[in-house]
Amino acid sequence: MGLGGKEKIKIGEINGKDVFSSVELQEDVNELEYKKIKKIVKETVEEHAKVEDENTNPGFSVLKRQPDFEVYKKAVTQVVLLDEITSLLNKLDADFEGYKNGRGLIGATSAVAWSSDLDKTYELISYRQKKRWNTKRDVDTESVKTMDKSCRTTFDNYDYQNKHNRVVPNSPCPILYGIRGDDVEELMQAVSIVRSEPVDSWLIFETNQGSDDHLQKKNIEDIRLYRSVIVEGAVIHNPYTLDGGHVIFTIKDSTGTIDCAAYEPTKEFRDIIRELSIGDVVEVYGGLRENPLTVNIEKINIQYLKDVVEKIENPICPKCGKHMKSKGKDQGFKCKICGIKSDKPKLRQRQRMIRTGFYEVPVCARRHLSKPLKRVSK
Ligand code: ZN
Repeated sequence: MGLGGKEKIKIGEINGKDVFSSVELQEDVNELEYKKIKKIVKETVEEHAKVEDENTNPGFSVLKRQPDFEVYKKAVTQVVLLDEITSLLNKLDADFEGYKNGRGLIGATSAVAWSSDLDKTYELISYRQKKRWNTKRDVDTESVKTMDKSCRTTFDNYDYQNKHNRVVPNSPCPILYGIRGDDVEELMQAVSIVRSEPVDSWLIFETNQGSDDHLQKKNIEDIRLYRSVIVEGAVIHNPYTLDGGHVIFTIKDSTGTIDCAAYEPTKEFRDIIRELSIGDVVEVYGGLRENPLTVNIEKINIQYLKDVVEKIENPICPKCGKHMKSKGKDQGFKCKICGIKSDKPKLRQRQRMIRTGFYEVPVCARRHLSKPLKRVSK
């Protein structure tokens, strides 16, 4: 069940009062309401933004008309400059303000331009009582596991392998936990299962999380830094592990070659990547990092596994029946007793430890935008 339509659905509680989904969006917000909204937004940002943190550069924009979806699409897939956004906002006669370096305006405006028409998920966010802010959160891990197992349309709740409770944030923000999912009713059920300190307020949001909206299918020659891509190619260098545990391999298509990486934080996912071999064909999903340009893999679709043969033993001398000796790398073999030569070792097909199909990084390493495999069929 979703939030659209005429039906009035409870989507939260703020300060003890029920909040309902808007039955229909108002076409015209009158001037008085518009000013009121702007005042609330400005006061809220200025009261609560942690501007003393060097990475906090908030911004807000209040608009009477939604910017084109393309504004969102560009921001989620590539690089948008602040100038582009401020000139757009001026053109749309918007009220806006950027604080410090002002880049928060980019995210704020792009978010307003988002539309849930293509794909969307929901996140139920619960907030802490103010007196508990900046203290350790109390959310019972076992109950999160129970919730994860029984609410099948929720995702990215718990990483069993790495024992990581993903619904609880690490930052000192007022959020207690966030549960992501595809069904509003099941999110409400999920909350009733999770045991925690008292919840002050909660609200269900429509989001682009788990949508893969950031990814674009590209040929290798068209791949640029800071983009996120889906790229298909054949493995041309076998995977190797760097100091620090990052696993790298190289793929090639008709337009070029590029490195792909399963970085150390992707944990057991690297064991899959290490099994790839020259000649395999893969489709890699991920964002671009530099030096050299490398795809940071979020998931991979292994399309073809090449037969790999390996040497099991040196050839046997047809005369004396003993194993021949190697004459050196690629130099062939020779029987020490009879002097008979051969260049053919005994080979066998190596059993591949992976199968074709999709593999994804574990929950603990997943980006918010990455579509989990459990959503891929949707
Ligand atoms: Zn021999």
